[in-house]
Amino acid sequence: MAENKTLKIQRVLFINPFLYHSKNINIGIDPVVVRHAGQAIKTGVTFPIGLAYMAAMLLESGYEVKLLDPLAECLPLDEIYDASCWSDAIVMPYSPGHKEGIKRYFSDFRQKVRIVSGGIAPYIHDYLLSNDIADIIIKGEPEETIVELVRQYPNVSDVKGIIFRSNSNKPVINPRRPLIMDLDRLPFPVRHLTNPIHYWDISFFGQPTAWILLSRGCSFDCIFCAQFEINQRAVRRRNPKNIVDEMEQVVKKQKVKNFVFFDETFNLSDKFVIDVCDEIIKRNLKVHWWCSARPDLVRFDVVKRMKESGCIEMRFGVESANDEILRYLNKDTTVEKMKMSYPILQEINPRLIYASVTMFGPNGPDSHRGGFDFQGQARSGLMFSTGEPDMPPLAVVFAVIDQVTAIWASHAVLSALIMRDRSGMGQQVQVSILGSALGLQYFNVLIGALTNDAPRHSRTDTDPMRNMYQCKGGKWICFTLPSLQPGLWKEFCQAIERPDLESDARFISFEKRLENCGELVSILDDIFAAKPREEWDDILERHGFFCAPVNESSELKDDLQVTENKYVVDFNHPVFGKVQFPGYPVHFSEASAGPRSAAPELGEHTEEVLREIGGYSAEEIERLRGKEII
Ligand code: SF4
Repeated sequence: MAENKTLKIQRVLFINPFLYHSKNINIGIDPVVVRHAGQAIKTGVTFPIGLAYMAAMLLESGYEVKLLDPLAECLPLDEIYDASCWSDAIVMPYSPGHKEGIKRYFSDFRQKVRIVSGGIAPYIHDYLLSNDIADIIIKGEPEETIVELVRQYPNVSDVKGIIFRSNSNKPVINPRRPLIMDLDRLPFPVRHLTNPIHYWDISFFGQPTAWILLSRGCSFDCIFCAQFEINQRAVRRRNPKNIVDEMEQVVKKQKVKNFVFFDETFNLSDKFVIDVCDEIIKRNLKVHWWCSARPDLVRFDVVKRMKESGCIEMRFGVESANDEILRYLNKDTTVEKMKMSYPILQEINPRLIYASVTMFGPNGPDSHRGGFDFQGQARSGLMFSTGEPDMPPLAVVFAVIDQVTAIWASHAVLSALIMRDRSGMGQQVQVSILGSALGLQYFNVLIGALTNDAPRHSRTDTDPMRNMYQCKGGKWICFTLPSLQPGLWKEFCQAIERPDLESDARFISFEKRLENCGELVSILDDIFAAKPREEWDDILERHGFFCAPVNESSELKDDLQVTENKYVVDFNHPVFGKVQFPGYPVHFSEASAGPRSAAPELGEHTEEVLREIGGYSAEEIERLRGKEII
């Protein structure tokens, strides 16, 4: 431990991470920072329940504690600074979003014992300790660890569940602390050290909300979920009486009636859920709450009881509507079990239109396999449709098949909507990346099926009159002379000022030109290389031939034909400034379409939505704003 630190901890400051710049910037007043932080505040502010539990444990053990939440409370820096100076130790949870803020803040308080809780990835410990950002890291459940740590400081070498810097500055990882099996032993979190008005959840329309922990752990083991690392699949539950005691206390003392059940998965046990609900109902507690739940464990009779006890919402992590992906994620469920399949939902709402997108389609041996645009380009034959013979497969660099799949999906949903208007019935529409890629290449697929061969284009071996030529200056042009139209060859020879070619026996007919393609292409290469592309474009257009510049994507914004039709449009982006965006490729006679704005910031369109869709008046909106509901 660093020598200038206290040898005894009596006062501990628990502080939620915030956007700390330096001692001289007052985060509570700086409007930019407040507005920045305001994004989070406007969508809901989560109570720092982990800190509040640790603070409660220390308080119960006779230590002095403070709990600050600078962002939620818009605290002036003086207050943060005073509290930090008052303390012997500061505890802050790790949050990747506030990494820099934690670093700056802790560097201003090096003489304090700096403790970080949470952050399960090993690199976080290395980062915090080796950069001298923190002194001690709490890993795993923190409540018992913080008490023992504070009590034993600075002799922390045998405190379980911590990582600390040794005297030789090396990180020392102590053994894990056993899990707290009896959660009822924990005191209620120190809500009284904060103002309940600052905490609210969007599901309660901005009204004060209390976060409450009913259980810890989850018996499942989804590969992306951090709970296993902390809880080791051990599910521990509080006694329903103890839980509802806490709820009652919150209702009475804090006048808060909205609750977020802060469990990993609330509905793992029907009995537990029913017992909690019954306790709430028995005490006639008029509360509202929501919880996280697994859809495959939902049972109607249990949901009914939940609703009676004030449940307004269950939040599900469905993750995927593909059984293979669910298997890969180790979700231990299926789409069917989650009751998210079309037959189940259709029974509830026969007018439902249910669209699903898969990689290879709903039938066949590979219907279960996944993939991306790239696999779609490959399996559909597209990679062998571009380029010249003997080239390796070529890919269109950006997600062309993803795009066309989305277009097919929207087309299918719109068709189903029209059918529903006629029949009154919804239906399932199934789109796939493979099917969409094949649909896009209709002619290639047709020719391939009819002739058993769909040749790639070859400049020197197919039709010289449907080809690309490089002009003076390096730009390319392409043109097409319909092969069966008489007189075009003569006209073409005049246009390129080579009337001698008209009667050249090698090129006298369409068949001859095909037969001697290589020779003609070589002659035309020389001819086209003599003038710039713009000039050739003029000449060919004047003679009535179909031609076009072979653009690179970067040239599109300078192509008048593209911009005048608004296929690419100027756009003032709030972050990128003046840029060009793809426009909408269709013109409606009675409507306009195209990019209207960048993707909104959180809450940016709230007023617009309330006014235009919700029909709210300006006064009503003002009233909602006054109550900080929006
Ligand atoms: S069910 Fe939910 S809480 Fe449980 S392991 Fe899976 S993602 Fe995590």
